[in-house]
Amino acid sequence: MTEPKDAAARRAVEPVICYPNDTLPTPPMALYRAARDGAKKISETYAAPREACTFEVPQGSFFRISSVEGPQVGDLNLWNKNDLSERFYSGKTRALHGTHITIGERMWSSFPHLRPLATIVADTLSWYGIDAFGGSVHDVIGTRCDPYTGNLLSGTQYHHCCHSNLTRALADHLGVRDAEAEPHVHDVLNVFMCTGFTRDTGQYFMKASPVRVGDYLEFFAEVDLLGALSACPGGDCSSEHTSDAAACYPLHVEVFEPASGALEGWVAPAKNGYDGSHGR
Ligand SMILES: [Zn+2]
Repeated sequence: MTEPKDAAARRAVEPVICYPNDTLPTPPMALYRAARDGAKKISETYAAPREACTFEVPQGSFFRISSVEGPQVGDLNLWNKNDLSERFYSGKTRALHGTHITIGERMWSSFPHLRPLATIVADTLSWYGIDAFGGSVHDVIGTRCDPYTGNLLSGTQYHHCCHSNLTRALADHLGVRDAEAEPHVHDVLNVFMCTGFTRDTGQYFMKASPVRVGDYLEFFAEVDLLGALSACPGGDCSSEHTSDAAACYPLHVEVFEPASGALEGWVAPAKNGYDGSHGR
């Protein structure tokens, strides 16, 4: 294919940010920090290696995901506990905040709700930034490792992918069959995972996570949350992710409740203000 004469000029056009996010509601970070200071732990659980756990976080509480025992990435799903049809919307979160999220950014919910489910309030890997390969941590570009893609690419039957782990954990939590739980599983926040797109081919890449024991990512629950977290079979995702080959470690989830009155003045996020008529 020959290039048009003005190819260079067309490529040189400056990009425009699709969704300037300076009009997004600003999270009250100082209020969150003050509420977190006096908060008490009310529950905790662990995602075992190559398995997932579920946890509930009352609205106005905090949850922390920590690396314990060794470098490990986690695949996180979030739902409105009272209405599972409202769930984390990875694609729109990416469009609003970029490919990776950190302190002050939010996990947004699906249509027709489109409101924050959770706000990141602490991230011990926020120093990482964007590396020379274009990689960064906590991405909303990956989907979740799953047995269907593994089968498509290599004909395997592998059952401890994050998709299957999340399916089993959710089914057990709800007391329903796996087939009933599976459609609720959705694209994840890849906690601690270091990813990007290659500059030359635009392919999704991963590399060994910079996470170390003691690192954590912490969130404020904007609504009553049901969460599910899978300790990815990829471990630190330095080599492969749809097998039992990688070293895997647990992930720790802790829930903290602020002292009563600590959130005075806080306003819970309303459902999206669009009238829903779609022009009819
Ligand atoms: Zn995974």
